[in-house]
Amino acid sequence: MYLYNSATHKKEEFQTHTPGRVEMYTCGPTVYHFAHIGNLRSYIMEDVLEKFLRYSGYDVNRVMNITDVGHLTSDADEGEDKMLKGAKRENKTVMDIAKFYTDAFFADCAKLNIKTPDVVEPATNCIDNYINIVSRLVETERAYVAGGNVYFDTSKLDRYYVFNDHNEEDLAVGVREGVEEDTNKRNKNDFVLWFTKSKFEDQALKWDSPWGVGYPGWHIECTGISLKHNGEYLDLHCGGVDNAFPHHTNEIAQSEAFLGHPWCKQWFHVAHLNTNDGKMSKSKGEFLTVSLLEEKGYDPIAYRWFCLQSHYRKALVFTWENLDNAVAAFNKLVARIATLKEEGEVEQEIFDQYKAKFLQQMGNDLNTSMGVTAIFDVLKAQTTDATKLALIADFDKVLSLNLIEKAAAKRAELSAQQTAKTESGYTVTGEGDPAIDALVMARYEAKRAKNFAEADRIRDELKAQGIEIVDTKDGATWKRA
Ligand code: AMP
Ligand code: ZN
Repeated sequence: MYLYNSATHKKEEFQTHTPGRVEMYTCGPTVYHFAHIGNLRSYIMEDVLEKFLRYSGYDVNRVMNITDVGHLTSDADEGEDKMLKGAKRENKTVMDIAKFYTDAFFADCAKLNIKTPDVVEPATNCIDNYINIVSRLVETERAYVAGGNVYFDTSKLDRYYVFNDHNEEDLAVGVREGVEEDTNKRNKNDFVLWFTKSKFEDQALKWDSPWGVGYPGWHIECTGISLKHNGEYLDLHCGGVDNAFPHHTNEIAQSEAFLGHPWCKQWFHVAHLNTNDGKMSKSKGEFLTVSLLEEKGYDPIAYRWFCLQSHYRKALVFTWENLDNAVAAFNKLVARIATLKEEGEVEQEIFDQYKAKFLQQMGNDLNTSMGVTAIFDVLKAQTTDATKLALIADFDKVLSLNLIEKAAAKRAELSAQQTAKTESGYTVTGEGDPAIDALVMARYEAKRAKNFAEADRIRDELKAQGIEIVDTKDGATWKRA
């Protein structure tokens, strides 16, 4: 498989430390609010990546943290702890907020067919791990204590900006407008590993440490949790593109300073989902959540399909119109699959040929839009329906669009719609109840015979049974209201 690596800025052949095994880490959600569908774009694309690696034969150990402490409103160690902000907003405890939004996150994931990672670890579970790492960094003088907090010393690194070729000034944290500069820092990029002198006296969760009572910084969480569950060599680290700096940059700095060897080879960053107004937000404009999609009558899987149609490295604009177009295309695809019959044998040679093409296209930097096109190619192929159904079911192990189930449901809906005809050609299409068909036809015959009283009586009888009739060109359709 070839995957773009944001650490080297190149598409590279995917390699792992242990052949056949992928140690994979994903930055999990900060559970202070519902995830927006932008957050979920990242998790959908990472889910496809994980499933594709498994489909390609790898054994994958996927680890995800749940950020329930330490992520401040600015990613650069400034502002208030987001969890505390959530707790104040809802007048609940931080732990109540964490539990509620962790459950909500996984409920959203389930609706989007995002598999739960093998290991899910809340940040507050691993305080000893962070203290252990920070202690070693202080002992080896890679970190220092100032003003009560522990800071990582970035001046001792050979290279700090791993992911970008950005202008250092643009990235200089702590000197952004509206952000007060932390005068404890020796260098502008130094970041907090452990807070004791929090500016916020009401910080809810605090633990004892060699540097006083306090709480961990956000970046150290991911290092601690990954080292605990993935070991010293990580193969693949994922996150949204905003995580690249400073979060992932800081993770690399502290992990490699602690380990004394390179840590993670391959970095996978998902570009943002934006709205027409720009950045997606949880507090401004329409708060786009999975629940909102459902309230508006959308199937969450249609949103997954919408995401798969674009490449993960391209920013994607969400509008309701774009989603409607995706839904129409998705329904058409399902309707086409519904016309396939469980007939004939699977033609193995053709199956293998199409599967190889799918592997090659998805293996080219996870080209999901080509993966989706592969389904249309299968539908056009010169082969048995059994082969087509087998291929679609196979590709759907990775795409997770419930294509076979949805097509079966569509087929059942269509077969329930049976048609009946009178001798004069009047066609009645309904939900498969011959007694109702007969009444609809009798009403037509009464009208034809100009027996309007009888026609009205039958109409009232149908109405009383909750049947709605719509006249068509050559007859009528009916359904239960
Ligand atoms: P958070 O809950 O803020 O820690 O974010 C969870 C994940 O969503 C992280 O991997 C972010 O990089 C990612 N993310 C945040 N905003 C967006 C967006 N608009 N589009 C795609 N991913 C995003
Ligand atoms: Zn992280």
